[in-house]
Amino acid sequence: MSNALVEITNLNVTFSLSTGLFKKQQLHAVNDVSLSIEPGSIVGLVGESGSGKSTLGRALLQLEKSSGGTIYFDGLDLSAATFADLRALRQQTAMIFQDPFSSFNPRQTIGQAISEVLRVHNKRPKELIDARVDELLTLTGLSRDYKDRYPSQLSGGQCQRAAIARSLAIEPRLIVADECVAALDVSIQAQIVNLLDDLSKKMGLTILFIAHDLAIVRHLCDAIAIMYLGRIVETGPTDVIFDSPRHPYTAALLSAIPDINPDNSLEQVSLMGEPPSPLNLPSGCAFHTRCHKATAECGKALPPQMQINNHQSYACILPMEAANSLPNEE
Ligand code: SF4
Repeated sequence: MSNALVEITNLNVTFSLSTGLFKKQQLHAVNDVSLSIEPGSIVGLVGESGSGKSTLGRALLQLEKSSGGTIYFDGLDLSAATFADLRALRQQTAMIFQDPFSSFNPRQTIGQAISEVLRVHNKRPKELIDARVDELLTLTGLSRDYKDRYPSQLSGGQCQRAAIARSLAIEPRLIVADECVAALDVSIQAQIVNLLDDLSKKMGLTILFIAHDLAIVRHLCDAIAIMYLGRIVETGPTDVIFDSPRHPYTAALLSAIPDINPDNSLEQVSLMGEPPSPLNLPSGCAFHTRCHKATAECGKALPPQMQINNHQSYACILPMEAANSLPNEE
């Protein structure tokens, strides 16, 4: 029996899109995804835009309907969850978004927004709500003065801190942070990343940190899952992925980070072209149209899941010893 807080197995999320008069097409946003998240850990979910990572995060919180597979949260099968179970899930999970300003009501002060969450979820008796708002603001590095300000009076970084304070108001066990630093300046990104790291350690918070940039997840995440066109193509502990990526897509993403590790002579691979449309997925390995190691076989069938050990796996036909060697010279 797994001790994971989240256990996702063979999950599919499919959207039916109108592509013309009387025409519908299936978009497989999440395709046969399995992912395990240990309690108290921070897992980075990384991929280019359109890879399905936000849809996966939303499906985990039951904000998107899955079309197959299972999600267990703390042992509870969410596909069989009752209304009461889902209500309990909402009390234990929160989401932080890329644009914190749009997640606040512009007519409410930050203090009112946080108090509302405390009230609705019955987190404190009425007379203790104000003190709890101060506490939450302090916890996220904002002084109590911020509770009387409106979102428009805050900078992007301050507003994201306020959004984190509001998400902590429900005392969640799991936070899905969806590109929550993508819109911030680099120096502010580091501050928010450090804050999440700190909160996770202090409070035992589990975080699924969604990002398109591997460099950002490096110092924050215990483990990383790399997504490409709806599938997880590699997963493993962060230091292992950075030291010896197995999947050619991971190697290409790492190559794009300048001075990643001067002591490690990883091959330099550039990522060719743009990802294909998720509405028209390539046959076989969906990465074969951009992969510098693709062979004729790659377009014919889905690659096997190569399990290196309990923690690291990748989806590719390349044998383990060849996966991170030099490119084909043809
Ligand atoms: Fe590249 Fe083929 Fe591996 Fe896909 S299966 S990543 S195309 S080598």
